[in-house]
Amino acid sequence: MKSKIPYGRQDIDEADVEAVVDILRSDFLTQGPAVPRFEVIVAQYCGAKHAVATNSATSALHVSCMALDVGPGDWVWTSPTTFVASANCALYCGARVDFVDIDPLTGNMSIDRLTDKLAEAKRRGILPKVVIPVHLCGQSCDMASVHKLAQEYGFRIIEDASHGIGGRFRGEPVGACRYSDITVFSFHPVKIVTTGEGGMALTNDPILLDRLQRHRSHGITSDHSHMLPRPADEIWNYQQIYLGYNYRMTDIQAALGVSQMSRLDTFVERRREIAAHYDEAFASMPVLTLRQNPESWSSYHLYPIRVRESLCGRTQRQVYDALWRAKIAVNLHYIPVYRQPYYEAMGFKAGYCPQAELYHRETISLPMYPGLSEENQAYVINALRTALEK
Ligand SMILES: *Cc1c(COP(=O)(O)O)cnc(C)c1O
Repeated sequence: MKSKIPYGRQDIDEADVEAVVDILRSDFLTQGPAVPRFEVIVAQYCGAKHAVATNSATSALHVSCMALDVGPGDWVWTSPTTFVASANCALYCGARVDFVDIDPLTGNMSIDRLTDKLAEAKRRGILPKVVIPVHLCGQSCDMASVHKLAQEYGFRIIEDASHGIGGRFRGEPVGACRYSDITVFSFHPVKIVTTGEGGMALTNDPILLDRLQRHRSHGITSDHSHMLPRPADEIWNYQQIYLGYNYRMTDIQAALGVSQMSRLDTFVERRREIAAHYDEAFASMPVLTLRQNPESWSSYHLYPIRVRESLCGRTQRQVYDALWRAKIAVNLHYIPVYRQPYYEAMGFKAGYCPQAELYHRETISLPMYPGLSEENQAYVINALRTALEK
């Protein structure tokens, strides 16, 4: 019997295994020399000045909000079509969250809706402090437009590029932070490169770098130039100046990350090849795919199709169930964040972002990962064709 084909999966080779084993035999397990090595490799790949590795993208988003001074009384806006972490990071800081509906063609935050919502918020005197665009499926948002609006309305930008490492915008790597204050990556196993759990925040601003680093580790510094004066006969080898967390990445994870980074371009090439095969097959089938903005070059973390009953006579539920019966573990990205019970309890109601809700009811994420064989991809395409026929 055929084993299940997942929607996403890590790609670990012998070099990855050796890199991790080497660390286990070394002097440092937690944050040692491998973490800064990983940070430099990612920063250089992206063309950013600084990078701060963390134990998840969720914690990277949290320290990024803290670095930008997000707190009670502030508003943070993000896309509803994302993982809950893109919004939760603002709540951790005591801020309030709001959502900007998506562009139905790309699934990314709509620049038109953002423009309208900013004008309205300005009239009401409740402009956001931070906007967190999400590069859905690995396709960069139109960051030049978001950046222009940021200058006009005075908000800061955190790119949630959890899906996006290896992608580009206007020819430049996602993570360069040309159009944002901070960019965040995730290294969860389903993402483009993995460290098991892990994340990273990139920035070109040395002040933000300092804040990201100190919030990652308890708000403690051991740099004497940052410490407060204390009596000379007392030993002060570190001081806690702020309230931070233990969000550090281990050297075990960072070594895996370093090893994975050497194959990042190969991973993305293979993902783009798979996407091209899907595109070709679906051109003659009654399903919708995401539009690619010519300025964005996607890393293809995900490959969603949209099942519209009026087009194909099948519901999303029917196609989803049929694919699962064919042992294809398809998934759904995403339920609009504000429809989650926790957010509905804050007052959000169904109908708030109609495009995001329609997206939720039509979209299915097909298998997309470097190790997906041609044979298995053909099997997926065929299973979908059959599901749409009968
Ligand atoms: C995966 C993901 C996160 C969270 O990443 P973790 O590393 O699991 O914390 C945040 N935002 C988006 C869009 C994601 O896909």
